[in-house]
Formats: sequence, C-alpha cells, structure tokens
Amino acid sequence: MGKHRILILGGTTEARQLATALAERADCDSLLSLAGRTAEPMAQPVPTRSGGFGGSDGLAEFLKAENFDLLIDATHPFAARISHNAAIAASITGIPFFALRRATWKQEPGDRWTSVRSVPEAANALGTVRKRVFLAIGRQEAFHFESAPQHGYLIRSVDPVTPQLGVPDARYILATGPFEEAAERELLIDNQIEVIVAKNSGGTATYGKIAAGRALGIAVIMVERQQPDDVRTVETVKDALGLVDHLFSPEMKRGV
Ligand code: NAP
Repeated sequence: MGKHRILILGGTTEARQLATALAERADCDSLLSLAGRTAEPMAQPVPTRSGGFGGSDGLAEFLKAENFDLLIDATHPFAARISHNAAIAASITGIPFFALRRATWKQEPGDRWTSVRSVPEAANALGTVRKRVFLAIGRQEAFHFESAPQHGYLIRSVDPVTPQLGVPDARYILATGPFEEAAERELLIDNQIEVIVAKNSGGTATYGKIAAGRALGIAVIMVERQQPDDVRTVETVKDALGLVDHLFSPEMKRGV
C-alpha cells in the first residue's frame, strides 16, 4: 500500500512538532510548507517547500498535482489569509482537511488586559498620553503604530522591521522564542515598560511576557483572534496525530 501523502502548512512550533512525529511513521509521507518569510528558518524534520501557492486556486492545484491525501493547516493563529485559502482549497478538491490551532490564552486574576480586535485598534487603545510600550506582535504589522507617534516603543521581532517606524522614539531588538518569564520580567523592568501589546497567540513559547506583565502589574493590550472559518480544529499535536490515525483508519477509507 502507498504512503499517505500529507501537506502541512507550517511556520509554527506545533507544525514542526507534528512533522517530527509524522516523520517517524512509516505509513506517512509529509511535506512541510513554509511561507518563506524568515531569513534563517529553523531546520525541519521532513522535506519542506517554501513560498506562496498563488491563492486558494494555486493551493488546490498543488494538492491535486502532488496527490495529497490530507491537508493540515498548522499555521500561526494570526495567519488568516493562508488559513482561509486552505479551507477553500480543501473544499474545491474534497481532500480531507483540519486545522491545528493552539488554545487562546485566558485572563487570570491579576491580569490587566484590554482586548482589541486588530492591530490598528491596539495602536488606538494606547491613548493620547505618552507611554513606554513593548511591542511584541511581529514585524509585519508594526507600522500601524506610526499612527501613535507620541509613545516610546521597544519593538521585538525575529527579523528586522523594514522600513523602521516613522516615530521619534523606537528601539529594536531581534530575538527568537521561546522566551522565559524571568528574562521577560527583566526586559520589562530594564526598559520601564508601562504597556505590552501582544497577540493572543496561545501556547507557551511567548507566554512569558504575559506572566511577567501580570506579576509586575503591567497593562496588556491583547489583540484577539478573529473567528476562523468553520473548520474541524484540534488544539494539540497529540490530538492532531489521533485525528490523522482516525482519518486513515480502514473504516474511514471504506467510508463507514
Ligand atoms: P498570511 O497573511 O495568512 O498569508 C499571506 C500569504 O503568504 C498567503 O496567502 C500565502 O501566499 C503565503 N503563505 C502563508 N503561510 C504559508 C505557508 N505556510 N506555506 C506557503 N505559503 C504561505 O500569513 P502571515 O501572517 O504573513 O504569516 C506567514 C507565515 O508566518 C505563516 O506560515 C505563519 O504560520 C507564520 N507566522 C505568522 C505569525 C503571525 O503573527 N501572523 C507569527 C508567527 C509565524 P499564497 O496566497 O500565494 O499561497
């Protein structure tokens, strides 16, 4: 019997973990797809491809041409366009499809969150009075904070923010997670941060700043996820592997 061909849309820790687990299975042949944005992507445990497909039609064609049996969307919860395209491509092709999406973080006692729906809303929510802001939302949407030039920014990203923001007070640091709470706490204190702007990404790798913010009583502007397409979703790599087993079980193949 041929191997099950699986296309994993990645760019996340979970995608890499899932690919690692699937690489150990003799019955699966997986390909990990990356957007190709990161200058020095991490080594991956399975073959990879890089770059966009050309929208949902391009992805549908790719799935058919390469005879995939399953599509897994394990992209970042804020990578909305590729997730939307994946849902459409799956429905065009009829190929089984599910999403692996971490659970969101929930507020705990002591947290001081203001929840907003988008990054531009987060910039607005900082208010008119100057504050020291830690911007930890990635580089692609940082430019929205040019609309609030009165604040002082510490901006952290994996790759450089280019062009830099047209604001008078911004400092840039390059770093790749995971970020531990103790180090985040030091960063917040050393830079006299008064507000953290974060995306509600979920997971442990970037939660350190949220926990440190809580301990220090620092306010957080939390950009919440928008409702994704109505797709079958699991929250952990373990559950994703269980679903792969289920979808490739003899009963499912017979359609019972
Ligand atoms: P996006 O806005 O949803 O996607 C923009 C376009 O990039 C897509 O339409 C697609 O191009 C291409 N693309 C995205 N992910 C791809 C993948 N895994 N394989 C092949 N093509 C992909 O995505 P984004 O927010 O720019 O994020 C890009 C990548 O970075 C994602 O893979 C995501 O997992 C990762 N990431 C994103 C964030 C975040 O906060 N957004 C954080 C950490 C990691 P075509 O339409 O041409 O196919």
